[in-house]
Amino acid sequence: MTAITPTGPRAAGVHWDLTAICTSVVAARELLTGTIATAEAFDSRYRGHVAALDAADLAEALAELARISNALHRVGSYVGLRRSVDVNDDEARDFETVVDQGMVRAQNALRFFDLEWIALDDAVAQPLIDAPENAANRHHLASERRFRPHVLPDDQERMLAEREPVVSAWQNLFAQTVANIRAPFDDGTGSAERTVDELLAYVHTPDRAVRLAALETLYVALEPHGDVLSACYDSIVADRLTMDRLRGYDSPIAPRHLSNELEPAWVDAMMEAIEARYGMAQRWFRKKAELMGLEQLHLADQYAPLGKGRAMPYEEALLIVSDAFGEFSPAIRAVSDSVFADRRVDAEPRQGKRGGAFCASVAQDAQPFILLNHTDTLRDLMTVAHELGHGMHFALSSRDQTALSMHAPLALCEVPSTFAELLVFDRMLQQEPDAATRMALIRQELESGFATVFRQTMMVRYEQDAYAARAAGQALTKDRLAEFWLSRNRAYYGDSMELPDGYRRGWSYIPHFINTRFYTYAYAFAHLASLTLYALYREDGDAFVGPYLEFLATGGSMSPGEQLAAFGIDLADAATWSKGLDEMERMLELALAG
Ligand SMILES: [Zn+2]
Repeated sequence: MTAITPTGPRAAGVHWDLTAICTSVVAARELLTGTIATAEAFDSRYRGHVAALDAADLAEALAELARISNALHRVGSYVGLRRSVDVNDDEARDFETVVDQGMVRAQNALRFFDLEWIALDDAVAQPLIDAPENAANRHHLASERRFRPHVLPDDQERMLAEREPVVSAWQNLFAQTVANIRAPFDDGTGSAERTVDELLAYVHTPDRAVRLAALETLYVALEPHGDVLSACYDSIVADRLTMDRLRGYDSPIAPRHLSNELEPAWVDAMMEAIEARYGMAQRWFRKKAELMGLEQLHLADQYAPLGKGRAMPYEEALLIVSDAFGEFSPAIRAVSDSVFADRRVDAEPRQGKRGGAFCASVAQDAQPFILLNHTDTLRDLMTVAHELGHGMHFALSSRDQTALSMHAPLALCEVPSTFAELLVFDRMLQQEPDAATRMALIRQELESGFATVFRQTMMVRYEQDAYAARAAGQALTKDRLAEFWLSRNRAYYGDSMELPDGYRRGWSYIPHFINTRFYTYAYAFAHLASLTLYALYREDGDAFVGPYLEFLATGGSMSPGEQLAAFGIDLADAATWSKGLDEMERMLELALAG
């Protein structure tokens, strides 16, 4: 691999070059101004006329929308990426406010199009969807209309929209309350005021006393806010139940299934299959207690590091990932290597740069960019693989799809990233000489699988309890929520985990419940789907590769059910999920043997 130039520790000097997106703020500003004018011209040309478009007109309008979308995404990504590596970049900060305003103007100019499209009668819309001129956007056009049965007449929709600031006010109160929580905590480097996220991050520290104390500090800090946080949730749930009734949804989770393009029965079957295997996690937690010399694991030990893998310098991580991808498919390796050759990655942690990692798709007519904070750990190796998995998805789907159809449905977004991790995981198990490193990796992957598949499912069950109670006329007080939370957690952990008393407020800071109900099952879905695909790869070998590359290139041009059916995965079959869960069991056996 020639693309890798040697770096110092912690990816020193690995910064991206954004000029392929925009050459400067001046150029980005010009592009934005021109695009807003194009969007406003689109508005005057098409508003009120969508019903009169023939197939060729519609194709032309969609092509124009795609060009506008690409330009806006390019500008938005440019400023967002600049800000993400330097919070003190004043030029970018100033430009960001201009971009924000410009986005609102463009969206206001374009919103009518989707609404008019959804409002068309099926008899008018279907021939347009089926027309060869619109083949590239077929799924986009059809799936936009799936909410049609739940859209109310225009004047009613407008009245409902008027009440949205009230809902946002509850969401803002929640966000502000959680963001403002601070508690003094000494992690051994001196006492300082810590946020909720900072306290939660201590679950990964090796020092048990620090982990236990951090969790206890968190619960004590949450306690005084229980009434406010539960009142926020109670009001939001009440509003959603009312909206569901008005819009004719038959269950509180139905809008999420519709948005994910998944049948309710498929998700039910998945969650039941997952719950039936909770025992796997319990077996691991008992083993972990034993390895730590404890009678019973404490919640604060759930993600505690056990043993230590060796250091993973940046260049070596890239070589391992490139190797693992190349063994799967040279095409995938080429896509992945080009990220480094084109300087589309920023990997060095530094002052003023945001934490974590992400892959930005940028735009359909651009290549993806990756942000990392590489600190030479084993976890960082898997993060490199993960973000490159997203990168290959974006690169192939943008090659084959339009700007309107490149983005995969939510339930599949994390499939290529998880699959890429599994490729690297397997390569490490086969080729890593250090046994302690192999074992650290196995445990890390296993625990992340439990957190994603089991714990996220448990959270959906908790939400279902809350909605059912509220629908039955019970207010969602902090004590009632605590009862639901603990009972669902006990079902998951069994007697394998000591749940501290303060954990009764464990539901109170989780933003998904407030912002996007039932969001979390998509994580479980994607993780299990990747494990299932990986099991198929092991069975079919090279025959699997072609279909997988096609899957990556499909992006959002097909529903999740259709995309997985191409691999012979039948979501209607309850037994479908056992393959992925068996993969987890295989990993568990490896971890138990250590
Ligand atoms: Zn991801």
